[in-house]
Amino acid sequence: MSILYESTRDKSLKVQASEAILQGLSKDGGLFVPTEIPKLDKSLKELGTMSYQDIAYNVMKLYFTDFTEEELRYCIDHAYDSKFDCKEIAPLKETQDTYFMELYHGKTIAFKDMALSILPYLMTTSAKKNNVKNEIVILTATSGDTGKAALAGFSDVPGTKIIVFYPKDGVSEIQKLQMVTEQGKNTFVVGINGNFDQAQTGVKEMFNDKKLAEELDEKGYQFSSANSINIGRLIPQVAYYVYAYASLLNKGVLKDGEEINFTVPTGNFGNILAAYFAKEMGVPVHKLICASNENKVLFDFFSTGEYDKNRDFKLTSSPSMDILISSNLERLIYLICNRDDKKTCALMENLKTGGKYEITADMKKGLDAFYGNYATEAETAEAIRSKYDAEGYVMDTHTAVAYDVYTKYLTDTDDDMVNVIASTASPYKFTRSVLAALGKDDSSKSDLELVPVLNEVSGMPVPGAVKEIMELPVRHNTVCEVDKMEETVKGFLGV
Ligand SMILES: *Cc1c(COP(=O)(O)O)cnc(C)c1O
Repeated sequence: MSILYESTRDKSLKVQASEAILQGLSKDGGLFVPTEIPKLDKSLKELGTMSYQDIAYNVMKLYFTDFTEEELRYCIDHAYDSKFDCKEIAPLKETQDTYFMELYHGKTIAFKDMALSILPYLMTTSAKKNNVKNEIVILTATSGDTGKAALAGFSDVPGTKIIVFYPKDGVSEIQKLQMVTEQGKNTFVVGINGNFDQAQTGVKEMFNDKKLAEELDEKGYQFSSANSINIGRLIPQVAYYVYAYASLLNKGVLKDGEEINFTVPTGNFGNILAAYFAKEMGVPVHKLICASNENKVLFDFFSTGEYDKNRDFKLTSSPSMDILISSNLERLIYLICNRDDKKTCALMENLKTGGKYEITADMKKGLDAFYGNYATEAETAEAIRSKYDAEGYVMDTHTAVAYDVYTKYLTDTDDDMVNVIASTASPYKFTRSVLAALGKDDSSKSDLELVPVLNEVSGMPVPGAVKEIMELPVRHNTVCEVDKMEETVKGFLGV
């Protein structure tokens, strides 16, 4: 069966998976959604005996129907290999009241690696399939985390180059070191004398510059984006939810058909949407528990049916969830209004002009599978402390938001089904906040100097990603002014 991808804002625009991956965003500004959410064609029991890679193949083949088996296997085998520090890829840790699915065993110790390690291969394969002869140049502006995950993903991938712009004084010392020590020969990292918004605006302008596109084309290059709304990032994330259920079934924790809950710390709504897709594919999921930090737009949305981003933006200890516009929610909106593209378009227009929109009572019924709640900063710290005190397990701040929300769900519902929390970052990525929660912060020490302290407290081995930045030489020293970004790109490419 062949699946196409249609735009949430004009469903007459339909493309093959490989084209959707190359384009990222649909021409009308909408997001690509599969024309149908396919059902798993193997039983969860059978999947439970398979490796992560084989499960990933059995999920992705149902969505990327224009890829051959050989092509997909090539992408999967190059993505989920020894870059990950454990062979399970997404190991499940059992604790007293919940499982943690640790999605942080990849190159940059955060869950973005799960998708960004495969996207480069999906993209270069898509380019080949569509007779694109040009080399793909990924342009990215980053406020910190995505930059390194994208650099690591595209590092030395044949047929690609990647250029990352970050605000020179706007990222943490560790984030900066992670980027400027990137060793891939096809990677370029630039600090700009400006803020993240300026970096992002500069990148968008280059994407929309037709003259620049022509100049690049003459030299055999074209731009593409590793943005989180690319379907090539969403679909690979569905695999680990299937993997989690199938593994627990195989271990005898679950009986065939028994329902499970997933709790997901949420920002842009990509990770939890992948869990929703897994449910729609046939994984017996009872509730999708959507955890927010103090930027609780989604909690309010699930409570009232109104999405309203008109509020103060809060800086929290879980920065990857400091988001007021959850882009991927547009895909869910489209699905719960029965793929009504005009309706979706109107709601998104309201969001753009007035910063808010409200869904109908009928659409709200489509949200039955979701439960939303949020954690304050104090509750997040308390969650880290209490889990550590009870059983020595250390969570990062994002995962702690999810854990706190899960305990609220238990109090609200008395539902004692098996629960799996998507654990999205290693505590080593947020060393200072984690140690502060445990009462062991030391303001006289730098973030890097706190690493051995966390090692002693947690007993968790220091990940390769952290050791690396302590040892690797700095390779990227380029700094540029905001109005010199294009010139800098041309310089790198010899255009
Ligand atoms: C990106 C990120 C999130 C949020 O995931 P979304 O898919 O954007 O909802 C949560 N935790 C960490 C550590 C992240 O990097």
